[in-house]
Amino acid sequence: MRAIVVGAGIGGLTAAVSLRRAGYEVTLVEQAPRFTETGAGIQLAPNATRVLRALGLLDAVADRSTRPPYMSFRTWSDGTEICRYALGRAAEDAFGAPYLQLHRADLHRVLTAAVPPGSVRLGTEVVGVDQDDRSARVTTAGGEHLRADLVVAADGVRSTVRRRLFGADEAVYSGSAAYRALLPAAEVADLDLPAYAGWLGPGRHVVHYWVSRGALLNVVAVFRAPAARESWTARAEPGEQLREFDGWDPRVLALLERAGRVWRYGIHTRVPLARWNVGRVTLLGDSAHAMVPFQAQGAAQAIVDAAVLGDALAGAAPAEVPEALDRYVRRRRATATSVQAGSVRAGEDYHLPDGPEARARDARMAAYAAAHGFSPQASAWGADAVDGQPAS
Ligand SMILES: Cc1cc2nc3c(=O)[nH]c(=O)nc-3n(C[C@H](O)[C@H](O)[C@H](O)COP(=O)(O)OP(=O)(O)OC[C@H]3O[C@@H](n4cnc5c(N)ncnc54)[C@H](O)[C@@H]3O)c2cc1C
Repeated sequence: MRAIVVGAGIGGLTAAVSLRRAGYEVTLVEQAPRFTETGAGIQLAPNATRVLRALGLLDAVADRSTRPPYMSFRTWSDGTEICRYALGRAAEDAFGAPYLQLHRADLHRVLTAAVPPGSVRLGTEVVGVDQDDRSARVTTAGGEHLRADLVVAADGVRSTVRRRLFGADEAVYSGSAAYRALLPAAEVADLDLPAYAGWLGPGRHVVHYWVSRGALLNVVAVFRAPAARESWTARAEPGEQLREFDGWDPRVLALLERAGRVWRYGIHTRVPLARWNVGRVTLLGDSAHAMVPFQAQGAAQAIVDAAVLGDALAGAAPAEVPEALDRYVRRRRATATSVQAGSVRAGEDYHLPDGPEARARDARMAAYAAAHGFSPQASAWGADAVDGQPAS
């Protein structure tokens, strides 16, 4: 059985590993001429790390990660702590796998090392997809046709394959953008910051956590903007982040001021679809369910997609592929769609204006932390990866 995976991001690479374990010969087709390093951090919640363990990748990922003991939510103006949500050992015990934070490049390196180099075709853009009863086929920009038993489109928020399957719905700008920066530990040592914090303010929030095993602090500062490009490499104008966060706690401003390079990322999403698959072709990851990153779940959902896809396809005969893809979508779509919606709600809650609503939110968060220990978002971490069972 052969599969073509379009896109070698986190979703596509994990899908390739999962499909190979299910017995598939996989060709991974990536438009970029080489793997480039995205200068950013990523958080992996236990629903993702459980899958990485099942795929034999958790030790390598964990070796490159930090494990925050808790997340501290704070008030934008003076840093008053709103609440602490438990992570660390408590989360690992409760959810069966750790909550990790690391550099994206480190995660990418572990995933690419798990895929045989000969199976990856870089510099190959997919421009078309079609199928008949027996196979599916992608067409590349170079005019080549590649055929397999199925095609998995992990081609991100601007998915070409999604357009080919379902018509011209486009990525939607969320109305929010993020300044992103990585600061060396020595430059922030005097600020006495918690290992992992979210600062909440009117229309804005800031999250920071350690990556590269504590060598770099990853900072993401979200704000409303009428328009912004979806790009990991677009730079902010010098000093614009300081104007945007004027009046914030001096520690947040120090982070934004000391950041050497600041990137500006326009957050785009996709409208949920009624289905992700047609015949032998399916979407996976952001192509299916790109979401605002306010629950740090986009990549995690892609990783869980990959596990369920491999599980649904294991042992399927060629004629059974469409049915197996139906099973995959049935097991994933409701959860991914609900995490998409929950991420929007989280952002609305984070961005409340000062006053009674924000005070009520703070009281709610503190009460929830006291009663449950974990964040309400942890309800997504136990979402079962494969057929109701943790994938371990
Ligand atoms: C600021 C920010 C912070 C985030 N933080 C977190 C977090 O902490 N935790 C978390 O779980 N998620 C997080 N996310 C979400 C996460 O980054 C995405 O959900 C995840 O990277 C999606 O992976 P993907 O593989 O589906 O898509 P992508 O990573 O976009 O990969 C798609 C790949 O397909 C390739 N491609 C596209 N079109 C074609 C084509 N036509 N032919 C061939 N190749 C093609 C692209 O070049 C790319 O390599 C965050 C997102 C943002 C914006």
